[in-house]
Amino acid sequence: MRPTAAHPLPAVAAPAADLLEPWAASLELAVLLDPEGRVLAVNRAFARKFGQPVPAWGGRSFPALLHPDDADDWAEAAARLKRPPYHISREHRWQTAQGWRWLAWEETALRDAAGEPFAVRAIGRDVTKHRLSEEHFRKIAQAVEQAPVSIVMTTPGGMAQYVNSRFTEVTGYTLEEIFERGIPVLREGHASETAYRQFCVIVAAGHKWTGELHTRRKDGTEVWEFVQVSPIRNHLDEITYLLCLREDITERKVLEDQLRQAQKMESIGTLAGGIAHDFNNIIAIIRGFTELSLTVAPADVRLTRYLGSVHDAALRASGLVSQILTFSRKTEVAYRAVRLDEIIHELMGMFAETFPRAIELRQELDESIEAFSVDPNQIRQVLMNLCVNARDAMTEGGVLTISTRRVPGAQLVALKADPEQEYACISLSDTGPGMEPEVRARIFEPFFTTKQGHGGTGLGLAVVYGVVTNHHGLLDLETAPGRGTTFHIYLPLKKREDNPPQVFGDGRAAHIPPGRERVLVVEDELPLLELLDTVLKKAGYQVRTAANGAEAVEQICGTSHERDVVVLDLNMPRLGGIDVLKIIRQNHPGLPVLVVSGHLTPEIRAELKELGQEHVLEKPFELSAFGQMLRSLLDAKQSA
Ligand code: ADP
Ligand code: MG
Repeated sequence: MRPTAAHPLPAVAAPAADLLEPWAASLELAVLLDPEGRVLAVNRAFARKFGQPVPAWGGRSFPALLHPDDADDWAEAAARLKRPPYHISREHRWQTAQGWRWLAWEETALRDAAGEPFAVRAIGRDVTKHRLSEEHFRKIAQAVEQAPVSIVMTTPGGMAQYVNSRFTEVTGYTLEEIFERGIPVLREGHASETAYRQFCVIVAAGHKWTGELHTRRKDGTEVWEFVQVSPIRNHLDEITYLLCLREDITERKVLEDQLRQAQKMESIGTLAGGIAHDFNNIIAIIRGFTELSLTVAPADVRLTRYLGSVHDAALRASGLVSQILTFSRKTEVAYRAVRLDEIIHELMGMFAETFPRAIELRQELDESIEAFSVDPNQIRQVLMNLCVNARDAMTEGGVLTISTRRVPGAQLVALKADPEQEYACISLSDTGPGMEPEVRARIFEPFFTTKQGHGGTGLGLAVVYGVVTNHHGLLDLETAPGRGTTFHIYLPLKKREDNPPQVFGDGRAAHIPPGRERVLVVEDELPLLELLDTVLKKAGYQVRTAANGAEAVEQICGTSHERDVVVLDLNMPRLGGIDVLKIIRQNHPGLPVLVVSGHLTPEIRAELKELGQEHVLEKPFELSAFGQMLRSLLDAKQSA
């Protein structure tokens, strides 16, 4: 082949240049190399790409222009060229006039008559743009595939075209199930059919939709997801796909729910606690006057019976108030080391006698749980409430199982347990009908009951909640319609300071041990003041009264009247009992004081302790208990 006027060949060895003749005017790069990689000939496109005129190339080393990272690969491929089929394609980075560029080469070994390669012809193209966009897409694909949110692309009709691995992970469905069974991935989880239709309208109109969906995994567990769906359009502005991003927010939802629940319980507790405090005063008056009346009307049998009924009703009312105070956590926990299994045995013995025969009772107790500090009365109350609920639930009979076991706090992080602490877990299971989610969500609310007209007060579980929280314990429950109910109660096993409960006598009629001492009674609740005044005078005491704190201070500091003891209410407007007590301690350090209160919070108890105040009586109290405590206070003073 001869050079023509139109395509003069470069000034390299003539036979070599001949071999590139067909590419002389080509836009593809052409180069001929000897077996050592030295240039024999190049075309003009090559010369332009590498920025040196054609004549400058003869004898130069071509691999010298290769990117160092690609050198090994290049050498390995050069060896392959020496074997059949004597042809390879490859892409590497080269130092060109425009800097590093990706060049794709088709290389052929040229062989002599004996079949020995004597040169390599390489025809190349700049593929940099292509390479970069491919790399760009690979990065996007990786990001999408590994994203912590679920990403789904669907047809405008909602059939999945692509889902990333997070989606299969969250839903539990495999790719085959999603594509072959055509699971409608945008359909589930809307609050209602109307909500779903609204969603369709918004998206079909080409708008973005965001919202929360409540879906189920393949295994049935529930997931809350924050979802964003945006339409993707083609160049004709038609919606071709829907892009759907979904973030799992189940954990956040659960925490929000717990917080809401806790806040609700807290505020209801505060409210009820306040009311209960006032009720305590009222009940104390009813009880007190009834007891007093019983002492003056012993001859009349009927009157005695009537008064007895009033007294019993008042007792029931105090029971209710004390329950309200328990769930509003306004009562003290009287800790004592006790064995759980003993409490449970005792209660189960009682249930075995009182529960219907159709209910079978079972116990699975871990005997290795030693005695630990709880308020046994309160825990008994908790177990009673739970067992009575289970009995009420199993109207057709069934099995009630109580079991205990130890659980390390680290296994209860979901309930926000102390991971350092070990807990005793009491589980109560029944085979009753279980609860609907709407019921389950409200059971711990005071006064929530589904037993209207059947003796439900709605206080049982509120008390359980209050007691368990007061013990720094945790509550959990498993229930579903048709699957029975199991409550788990976790109580910390760590020792707490013992704090023996106060004991009161329980005689019904008022018996006040007689005395002649001078008593000052400070009480803002006038009927109660009158009651105490009456019973004390009847028992022989000399009584003065003060209807509020200021009046009391006036009497104590201002008058010449002497007194041997002060009965002091704490909750009084303006000048409270604690302030009066401080003034007494300052001016008359030796004067004994009996504090009575319907509202003893742990803070107030601590303050009383600091003031060295030992004699404290909680309202509502029995008059005889009041009388005995007053007497013992006076006797102690005399013997001192
Ligand atoms: P009460 O028993 O007076 O209704 P509770 O506070 O003890 O009040 O219980 C509240 C509600 O919780 C009950 O009315 C009942 O609907 C539901 N509940 C409690 N325990 C169970 C149980 N074991 N099985 C089914 N439902 C229960
Ligand atoms: Mg109940």
